[in-house]
Amino acid sequence: MTFRYCPECGCTLVQRETAGKSVPYCESCQQFCFPVSLPCVICLVVNEYNEIALIKQTYATKNKVCIAGFIEQGETAEQAALREVKEETGLTPLSVRYISSYYYEKKDNLMLGFAAFVNKAEFHIQPDEVESAAWYSIDEARHELSKGVTGKDLLRDWLRE
Ligand SMILES: [Zn+2]
Repeated sequence: MTFRYCPECGCTLVQRETAGKSVPYCESCQQFCFPVSLPCVICLVVNEYNEIALIKQTYATKNKVCIAGFIEQGETAEQAALREVKEETGLTPLSVRYISSYYYEKKDNLMLGFAAFVNKAEFHIQPDEVESAAWYSIDEARHELSKGVTGKDLLRDWLRE
């Protein structure tokens, strides 16, 4: 997100040089308003049989995707990963482990990728957010995740470990 107005006082920002870069600056607050990419988490949910949970979201695409969501203010990335998995699948992760980060240009999100380990169980989904959830073998998951979705890269990087 690149600021055009000061998030503190609402003044129109001007461009000012700092460290060889042109950055939006508020003349009234005398501070730079550096662009920010909103941090999200994306989780590869894995069970004890090495099966992967993929969901179909109620809104947006028809594609099956990994669990993902924004990091809330005051949360660590690990806490956000735990919360999102619980909210979107109804399952409680035994552990979450950081894998790698990804930049999602379309929405200017920095996505922090985790593997979340859960015991295999029935999903309890919230129908307003998630249409369906299911377990897939690694090969099936690789096939279900379309090219270009971040979950495909996360799966690849998890398998490399
Ligand atoms: Zn200002």
